[in-house]
Amino acid sequence: MKRRGALDKREREHRQKEKNFKVPGEIRFLVDRSEIISKCPICGGDVYKDPSNIVFDDVHFHFDCVVNLIKSKVELSENQNVYYYGSNNFTIVWERKGKIEVLKRIRVGDFLSEYVKKTV
Ligand SMILES: [Zn+2]
Repeated sequence: MKRRGALDKREREHRQKEKNFKVPGEIRFLVDRSEIISKCPICGGDVYKDPSNIVFDDVHFHFDCVVNLIKSKVELSENQNVYYYGSNNFTIVWERKGKIEVLKRIRVGDFLSEYVKKTV
């Protein structure tokens, strides 16, 4: 089946983020800290040019900050976790003994919009 260009771009973006996804215990990939591009609205810390940044409305967020924010707002039961799904979507999954079931898709904008100041 032939894929359209837009899908390929999303797929590449997803692969890139997935490649950079940090699993506890895994060695963290190196981030170029020579260039600070902005401040993270959640923690106030410096944001570097990092492909794992979550970008919403042209505002850059730390990936970990977004994950922690989601985890603080949704109540996770035992065996549930938050995974990055791609294209600014996360999912709540149920995970046990290598089996994963997607429970709910989360649009990151629902959580980040309050951090993005709109000047209309
Ligand atoms: Zn942050």
